[in-house]
Amino acid sequence: MRYQTILDTVRAEVSPLVGCGRVADYIPALATVDPSRFGMALATADGTVYGVGDWQTSLSIQSISKVFSLAMALSGDDEEIWRRVGREPSGSPFNALQQLENDRGVPRNPFVNAGALVVVDHVLALTGDPTGAVLDLLRTEADNPAIDVDRQLAKSEAGNRHRNAALAHLLADYGALTHPVDVVLDQYTDLCAIAMSCRDLARAAGFLARHGLRADGSRLLSRSTAKRLNATMLTCGTYDSAGEFAYRVGLPAKSGVGGGILAVVPNRCTVAVWSPGLDESGNSCAGRAALDAFTTLTGWSVF
Ligand code: GLU
Repeated sequence: MRYQTILDTVRAEVSPLVGCGRVADYIPALATVDPSRFGMALATADGTVYGVGDWQTSLSIQSISKVFSLAMALSGDDEEIWRRVGREPSGSPFNALQQLENDRGVPRNPFVNAGALVVVDHVLALTGDPTGAVLDLLRTEADNPAIDVDRQLAKSEAGNRHRNAALAHLLADYGALTHPVDVVLDQYTDLCAIAMSCRDLARAAGFLARHGLRADGSRLLSRSTAKRLNATMLTCGTYDSAGEFAYRVGLPAKSGVGGGILAVVPNRCTVAVWSPGLDESGNSCAGRAALDAFTTLTGWSVF
């Protein structure tokens, strides 16, 4: 089946679901996003992109940025980050304080907020500027120099980040951060506020479908590290319903509270989908349904 036909079919199937769920409103600037948006893009491993709906409209990538920060950490020194962060599913909300306290300052995985804060701290040591490093990667891989932080959104989150600040202070108390709390928080908030389209997201993540190779053929991650990053997405990338997501979709994926989901079909393609209404776990309601329909239609799950 042609890629465009696949996307058109998926869109037709999920269109009754667009608008289901609730738009995230704990970040005030996200609450104003139109819930009737739906976009989906597929980038083949050679970088050709297909799309439907709002696939070229910018969305707030939020926690999807955690994939790219982790890729920067792993490209720097491979295994070092795993001395500071676990890789087990959390079984708790993404911003849980209690779990971090119980685990004595070692976050359960790199995709819960506490884990991402430690990853950002790690990439600060490696690059001095995690947001700049991730933007460079995204712009080059997507071939779009306009990708940037949405400053208004970053400001909106920065004014309401009490829980993330609490997590960062708890980490600092356990000696788990090597940079000042506010520096780590500012970088984390900016990374979450990166705005880019499904088209750009699908292209930028191509290295995950190419076993670690960037668009120009150079290596970002070793083959084995790319496998492990995909495995971590599969087990920990979709909040506290990664089991259900694997059951329904069967692909490594990372979602964000902006309503985006990035999924990887190793060796074949990357898919980015966006629809702002979230289910109870925080995953895009129509987005998850679209990926479910996608793997059911194509048979391209990893299982
Ligand atoms: N910036 C959001 C936060 O830290 C990201 C949440 C998410 O997308 O999971 O709360």
